[in-house]
Amino acid sequence: MSPPRLFVPDPLLEGATVPLDRARAHYLRDVMRLRTGAPVHLFNGIDGEWLAILGGDRKAAVLEIGQRRRAQAVEPGPVLLFAPIKRPRLEWLLEKAVELGVARLVPVLTERTVVRPESSERLRARVIEAAEQCERLTVPALDDPADLLGAVDALPSGELLAFADEQGGGVPAIDLFREQPVTALLIGPEGGFTPAERKALLARARIRAVSLGPRILRAETAALHALACWGAVAASGR
Ligand code: SAH
Repeated sequence: MSPPRLFVPDPLLEGATVPLDRARAHYLRDVMRLRTGAPVHLFNGIDGEWLAILGGDRKAAVLEIGQRRRAQAVEPGPVLLFAPIKRPRLEWLLEKAVELGVARLVPVLTERTVVRPESSERLRARVIEAAEQCERLTVPALDDPADLLGAVDALPSGELLAFADEQGGGVPAIDLFREQPVTALLIGPEGGFTPAERKALLARARIRAVSLGPRILRAETAALHALACWGAVAASGR
Protein backbone atom coordinates (compact mmCIF):
# COMPACT_ATOMS: atom_id res chain seq x y z
CA MET A 1 0.00 0.00 0.00
CA SER A 2 1.40 3.41 -0.88
CA PRO A 3 2.05 5.78 2.04
CA PRO A 4 -0.75 8.10 3.16
CA ARG A 5 -0.78 11.45 1.46
CA LEU A 6 -1.49 14.58 3.46
CA PHE A 7 -2.11 18.20 2.59
CA VAL A 8 -0.44 20.50 5.11
CA PRO A 9 -0.42 24.29 5.23
CA ASP A 10 3.26 24.42 6.22
CA PRO A 11 6.19 25.31 3.97
CA LEU A 12 7.91 22.12 2.78
CA LEU A 13 11.68 21.85 2.57
CA GLU A 14 14.23 19.17 3.31
CA GLY A 15 15.12 18.82 6.99
CA ALA A 16 12.10 20.79 8.25
CA THR A 17 9.64 19.38 10.76
CA VAL A 18 5.88 19.66 10.41
CA PRO A 19 3.89 19.46 13.67
CA LEU A 20 0.73 17.35 13.54
CA ASP A 21 -2.47 18.33 15.27
CA ARG A 22 -4.27 15.70 17.34
CA ALA A 23 -6.71 14.73 14.63
CA ARG A 24 -3.97 14.04 12.12
CA ALA A 25 -1.72 12.30 14.62
CA HIS A 26 -4.68 10.08 15.53
CA TYR A 27 -5.39 9.41 11.87
CA LEU A 28 -1.83 8.36 11.09
CA ARG A 29 -1.13 6.37 14.25
CA ASP A 30 -4.49 4.85 15.14
CA VAL A 31 -6.43 4.71 11.88
CA MET A 32 -3.61 4.07 9.40
CA ARG A 33 -1.62 2.23 12.09
CA LEU A 34 1.66 3.89 11.17
CA ARG A 35 4.62 3.49 13.48
CA THR A 36 7.47 5.91 14.07
CA GLY A 37 9.66 5.95 10.99
CA ALA A 38 6.81 5.19 8.56
CA PRO A 39 6.75 7.17 5.30
CA VAL A 40 4.09 9.78 4.54
CA HIS A 41 3.76 11.94 1.43
CA LEU A 42 3.11 15.64 1.92
CA PHE A 43 2.02 18.49 -0.33
CA ASN A 44 0.99 22.05 0.37
CA GLY A 45 -0.15 23.29 -3.04
CA ILE A 46 3.05 25.32 -3.51
CA ASP A 47 6.21 23.28 -2.98
CA GLY A 48 5.45 20.01 -4.77
CA GLU A 49 5.24 16.63 -3.02
CA TRP A 50 7.68 15.47 -0.36
CA LEU A 51 8.57 12.28 1.43
CA ALA A 52 8.33 12.61 5.21
CA ILE A 53 8.84 10.23 8.11
CA LEU A 54 6.54 9.98 11.10
CA GLY A 55 8.41 11.04 14.24
CA GLY A 56 7.81 12.45 17.69
CA ASP A 57 6.05 10.56 20.43
CA ARG A 58 2.50 9.77 21.62
CA LYS A 59 2.03 13.29 22.93
CA ALA A 60 3.38 15.25 20.01
CA ALA A 61 3.65 13.60 16.61
CA VAL A 62 5.66 15.34 13.90
CA LEU A 63 6.59 14.67 10.31
CA GLU A 64 10.25 15.00 9.41
CA ILE A 65 10.63 16.06 5.83
CA GLY A 66 13.08 14.23 3.58
CA GLN A 67 13.41 14.50 -0.18
CA ARG A 68 11.12 16.03 -2.71
CA ARG A 69 9.25 13.45 -4.80
CA ARG A 70 7.52 15.68 -7.36
CA ALA A 71 8.06 19.26 -8.42
CA GLN A 72 5.08 21.59 -8.16
CA ALA A 73 3.07 21.74 -11.37
CA VAL A 74 0.31 23.96 -12.66
CA GLU A 75 -2.93 22.00 -12.67
CA PRO A 76 -5.24 23.83 -15.06
CA GLY A 77 -8.91 23.15 -14.58
CA PRO A 78 -12.25 24.88 -14.89
CA VAL A 79 -14.10 26.90 -12.29
CA LEU A 80 -17.31 25.10 -11.27
CA LEU A 81 -20.30 27.20 -10.23
CA PHE A 82 -22.93 24.96 -8.68
CA ALA A 83 -26.07 25.39 -6.63
CA PRO A 84 -25.75 23.61 -3.28
CA ILE A 85 -27.62 20.32 -2.99
CA LYS A 86 -28.21 18.07 0.02
CA ARG A 87 -25.60 15.91 1.63
CA PRO A 88 -24.41 13.25 0.85
CA ARG A 89 -24.85 14.19 -2.81
CA LEU A 90 -23.05 17.47 -2.26
CA GLU A 91 -20.02 15.76 -0.78
CA TRP A 92 -20.04 13.33 -3.67
CA LEU A 93 -20.18 16.21 -6.14
CA LEU A 94 -17.22 17.93 -4.46
CA GLU A 95 -15.15 14.76 -4.31
CA LYS A 96 -15.70 13.95 -7.99
CA ALA A 97 -15.15 17.56 -9.06
CA VAL A 98 -11.77 17.58 -7.29
CA GLU A 99 -10.82 14.28 -8.90
CA LEU A 100 -11.84 15.54 -12.32
CA GLY A 101 -9.54 18.52 -11.93
CA VAL A 102 -11.67 21.49 -10.99
CA ALA A 103 -9.57 24.56 -10.14
CA ARG A 104 -12.12 26.46 -8.07
CA LEU A 105 -15.53 25.67 -6.58
CA VAL A 106 -18.13 28.41 -6.31
CA PRO A 107 -21.44 27.62 -4.56
CA VAL A 108 -24.12 29.88 -6.01
CA LEU A 109 -27.45 30.72 -4.44
CA THR A 110 -30.38 30.63 -6.83
CA GLU A 111 -34.09 31.24 -6.40
CA ARG A 112 -34.81 27.53 -6.27
CA THR A 113 -31.88 26.59 -4.07
CA VAL A 114 -33.71 25.08 -1.15
CA VAL A 115 -30.67 23.79 0.65
CA ARG A 116 -28.71 26.06 2.91
CA PRO A 117 -25.04 25.45 2.22
CA GLU A 118 -23.12 23.31 4.68
CA SER A 119 -20.43 24.81 6.86
CA SER A 120 -17.58 25.66 4.55
CA GLU A 121 -15.12 24.12 6.99
CA ARG A 122 -16.72 20.72 6.62
CA LEU A 123 -16.90 21.02 2.85
CA ARG A 124 -13.32 22.20 2.66
CA ALA A 125 -12.26 19.10 4.60
CA ARG A 126 -13.94 16.96 1.92
CA VAL A 127 -12.16 18.89 -0.82
CA ILE A 128 -8.78 18.39 0.87
CA GLU A 129 -9.42 14.67 1.37
CA ALA A 130 -10.26 14.25 -2.29
CA ALA A 131 -7.11 16.13 -3.35
CA GLU A 132 -5.01 13.95 -1.05
CA GLN A 133 -6.50 10.79 -2.43
CA CYS A 134 -6.24 11.58 -6.14
CA GLU A 135 -2.59 12.70 -6.10
CA ARG A 136 -3.25 16.30 -7.01
CA LEU A 137 -0.56 18.83 -6.12
CA THR A 138 -3.08 21.60 -5.57
CA VAL A 139 -6.28 21.90 -3.55
CA PRO A 140 -9.02 23.79 -5.38
CA ALA A 141 -10.31 26.91 -3.72
CA LEU A 142 -13.81 26.66 -2.23
CA ASP A 143 -15.52 30.05 -2.23
CA ASP A 144 -18.15 31.20 0.21
CA PRO A 145 -21.65 30.91 -1.29
CA ALA A 146 -22.56 33.88 -3.45
CA ASP A 147 -25.59 35.13 -5.30
CA LEU A 148 -25.86 33.55 -8.79
CA LEU A 149 -25.54 36.60 -11.01
CA GLY A 150 -23.09 38.27 -8.66
CA ALA A 151 -20.82 35.21 -8.87
CA VAL A 152 -21.13 35.07 -12.67
CA ASP A 153 -20.31 38.74 -13.04
CA ALA A 154 -17.41 38.49 -10.59
CA LEU A 155 -15.56 35.94 -12.73
CA PRO A 156 -12.37 37.45 -14.13
CA SER A 157 -13.01 39.18 -17.44
CA GLY A 158 -12.34 36.91 -20.37
CA GLU A 159 -13.71 33.82 -18.61
CA LEU A 160 -16.10 31.99 -20.88
CA LEU A 161 -18.85 30.21 -18.98
CA ALA A 162 -20.73 27.10 -20.17
CA PHE A 163 -24.21 27.10 -18.69
CA ALA A 164 -25.73 23.62 -18.47
CA ASP A 165 -29.24 24.28 -19.73
CA GLU A 166 -31.56 21.30 -19.69
CA GLN A 167 -34.24 23.24 -21.56
CA GLY A 168 -32.60 22.65 -24.91
CA GLY A 169 -31.12 24.92 -27.50
CA GLY A 170 -27.55 24.53 -26.30
CA VAL A 171 -24.85 22.76 -28.28
CA PRO A 172 -23.46 19.53 -26.82
CA ALA A 173 -20.97 20.50 -24.10
CA ILE A 174 -18.08 18.62 -25.70
CA ASP A 175 -18.55 20.48 -29.00
CA LEU A 176 -18.36 23.84 -27.28
CA PHE A 177 -15.26 22.82 -25.30
CA ARG A 178 -13.55 21.75 -28.52
CA GLU A 179 -14.35 25.02 -30.24
CA GLN A 180 -14.00 27.66 -27.56
CA PRO A 181 -11.74 28.15 -24.54
CA VAL A 182 -14.35 27.60 -21.85
CA THR A 183 -12.95 28.22 -18.38
CA ALA A 184 -16.05 28.00 -16.18
CA LEU A 185 -19.07 25.69 -15.89
CA LEU A 186 -22.44 26.42 -14.31
CA ILE A 187 -24.81 23.72 -13.03
CA GLY A 188 -28.23 24.57 -11.61
CA PRO A 189 -30.10 23.38 -8.53
CA GLU A 190 -32.34 20.32 -8.33
CA GLY A 191 -35.34 22.46 -9.22
CA GLY A 192 -33.57 24.09 -12.17
CA PHE A 193 -33.23 27.82 -12.82
CA THR A 194 -36.27 30.08 -12.88
CA PRO A 195 -37.24 31.56 -16.28
CA ALA A 196 -35.96 34.95 -15.09
CA GLU A 197 -32.60 33.53 -14.05
CA ARG A 198 -32.30 31.65 -17.33
CA LYS A 199 -33.06 34.80 -19.28
CA ALA A 200 -30.54 36.83 -17.28
CA LEU A 201 -27.87 34.16 -17.82
CA LEU A 202 -28.47 33.86 -21.56
CA ALA A 203 -28.32 37.65 -21.94
CA ARG A 204 -24.69 37.73 -20.80
CA ALA A 205 -22.07 37.82 -23.53
CA ARG A 206 -19.68 35.49 -21.72
CA ILE A 207 -22.26 32.73 -21.32
CA ARG A 208 -22.87 29.83 -23.71
CA ALA A 209 -25.71 27.38 -23.13
CA VAL A 210 -24.73 23.74 -23.42
CA SER A 211 -26.67 20.49 -23.47
CA LEU A 212 -25.60 17.45 -21.49
CA GLY A 213 -27.73 15.07 -23.52
CA PRO A 214 -31.37 14.11 -23.88
CA ARG A 215 -32.03 13.10 -20.26
CA ILE A 216 -32.50 15.30 -17.22
CA LEU A 217 -29.55 14.63 -14.97
CA ARG A 218 -29.39 15.25 -11.27
CA ALA A 219 -27.23 18.24 -10.44
CA GLU A 220 -24.27 16.15 -9.31
CA THR A 221 -24.43 13.94 -12.42
CA ALA A 222 -24.64 17.04 -14.59
CA ALA A 223 -21.51 18.47 -12.93
CA LEU A 224 -19.70 15.18 -13.45
CA HIS A 225 -20.71 14.98 -17.10
CA ALA A 226 -19.62 18.55 -17.84
CA LEU A 227 -16.30 18.16 -16.01
CA ALA A 228 -15.56 14.84 -17.71
CA CYS A 229 -16.19 16.37 -21.15
CA TRP A 230 -14.00 19.35 -20.28
CA GLY A 231 -11.24 17.06 -19.08
CA ALA A 232 -11.48 14.81 -22.14
CA VAL A 233 -11.06 17.78 -24.46
CA ALA A 234 -8.19 19.22 -22.39
CA ALA A 235 -6.43 15.82 -22.37
CA SER A 236 -6.66 15.50 -26.14
CA GLY A 237 -5.16 18.96 -26.59
CA ARG A 238 -8.34 20.55 -27.93
N1 SAH B 1 -35.38 21.64 -14.40
C1 SAH B 1 -35.38 20.39 -13.75
C2 SAH B 1 -34.08 19.68 -13.44
C3 SAH B 1 -32.90 20.39 -12.96
S1 SAH B 1 -31.53 19.36 -13.12
C4 SAH B 1 -36.40 20.33 -12.68
O1 SAH B 1 -37.20 21.22 -12.64
O2 SAH B 1 -36.41 19.42 -11.88
C5 SAH B 1 -30.27 20.24 -12.29
C6 SAH B 1 -29.29 20.96 -13.19
O3 SAH B 1 -28.51 20.03 -13.92
C7 SAH B 1 -29.91 21.88 -14.21
O4 SAH B 1 -30.16 23.15 -13.70
C8 SAH B 1 -28.83 21.91 -15.30
O5 SAH B 1 -27.84 22.89 -15.01
C9 SAH B 1 -28.21 20.54 -15.22
N2 SAH B 1 -28.73 19.58 -16.21
C10 SAH B 1 -29.38 18.42 -15.95
N3 SAH B 1 -29.66 17.76 -17.09
C11 SAH B 1 -29.16 18.49 -18.10
C12 SAH B 1 -29.09 18.33 -19.53
N4 SAH B 1 -29.61 17.29 -20.14
N5 SAH B 1 -28.50 19.31 -20.25
C13 SAH B 1 -27.98 20.41 -19.66
N6 SAH B 1 -28.00 20.61 -18.32
C14 SAH B 1 -28.57 19.67 -17.55
